[in-house]
Amino acid sequence: MNAPAGLPPSLVGTGDLFQHLRDGTPRTRGDLARLSSLARSTVTARVDALLVAGLLRPVGEAASTGGRPPSRFALNGGDRVVVAIDLGASHASVAVSDLTNQVLAQRTVESDIADGPTAVLDRSAAIVQELLAELGRPVSDVAGSGIGVPGPVAHASGRPANPPIMPGWHDFDIPAHMAQHFGGPVLVDNDVNLMALGEHVTSWRSDRHLLLVKVATGIGAGIVSDGRLLRGALGSAGDLGHVHVAGAANDVVCRCGNVGCLEAVAAGPAIAARLRAHGLDVESSQDIVDAVTAGDVTALQAVREAGRDLGSVLATCVNLLNPSVIVIGGKLSEAGEYLLAGVREVVYQRSLPLATHDLRIVGTAAGSQGGILGAAAMVIDAVLAPRAVEVYVAQHLARSA
Ligand SMILES: [Zn+2]
Repeated sequence: MNAPAGLPPSLVGTGDLFQHLRDGTPRTRGDLARLSSLARSTVTARVDALLVAGLLRPVGEAASTGGRPPSRFALNGGDRVVVAIDLGASHASVAVSDLTNQVLAQRTVESDIADGPTAVLDRSAAIVQELLAELGRPVSDVAGSGIGVPGPVAHASGRPANPPIMPGWHDFDIPAHMAQHFGGPVLVDNDVNLMALGEHVTSWRSDRHLLLVKVATGIGAGIVSDGRLLRGALGSAGDLGHVHVAGAANDVVCRCGNVGCLEAVAAGPAIAARLRAHGLDVESSQDIVDAVTAGDVTALQAVREAGRDLGSVLATCVNLLNPSVIVIGGKLSEAGEYLLAGVREVVYQRSLPLATHDLRIVGTAAGSQGGILGAAAMVIDAVLAPRAVEVYVAQHLARSA
């Protein structure tokens, strides 16, 4: 690959050196020389370039064994910001975050995804402008934008692909539209994928294999495999909602037209229908959570049973993917241990012992913030990638020349 225009040959590799500082831990030039196996003089030149570009900042002094203490450097997370937008069926969560994925400002508003892409994206962009103004940051500080949508997306092009609940969005060029508002890359992904990424970067970074399952009105999963999102050929990997549940009654017709789908037996509407048949006044997933929290025995049993149905599908996933963590998220995960207990009961019983040896099945830690954290993480990974860092350094050198 050619060096970015304007980057001196001696600074090629600066982006790779920078990766040793991505975790936020302050390091000395000596630390970096050891980690990168580069000569001290090479490290010094590259660190200087990163400092000039504002990508690093000096932090305190390292302990010294005598003489002048060596300076330490860390990622300068506040230099630029990223835009994170998490679009749901009826809401939009919008945040401005720094390069360490700390949310600096955030707002969630009601927003109907069926209003179509132009209205929804412009509404979200207007909120970003307000948040930037509140933070006193110019629009030119935006390094890139990450957007999660409630439907399948061709990640490479950022265009939704026949999303069932997003009329008017099919094949819409989201990156081209958002580029009218903000600079830098615009990356788009399915909301459940971003929840998985958000959970991974905030709570499970050392676990390279994670499966996040969202259980709400529908059921879907995001797969982190070897530290990266596994999207599949067309971006639909993890679409578990319409997997057939072994032993499911064949009279349960799913909205997709098949019978016995996981979503048709274990998602919010299915549980609510079962509870109504028992005389409970339950409509939404929130109503189910409320009934469980109130200790209604019928609701507890129904949620646990849904957990078992989910577990029977997840047992297969565990054998296939061998994750070390399964995170259960989405509205119904707020029903707490009852859903998890049902999942664990079946997964540990049905999966191979080796696959479950170190497997943890837990509730979400990121909760409703998962989508925002994942959207920001996706963009940060892009703007701090080795090549992007070198382009940025080259731009700074050109400007200061
Ligand atoms: Zn179905």
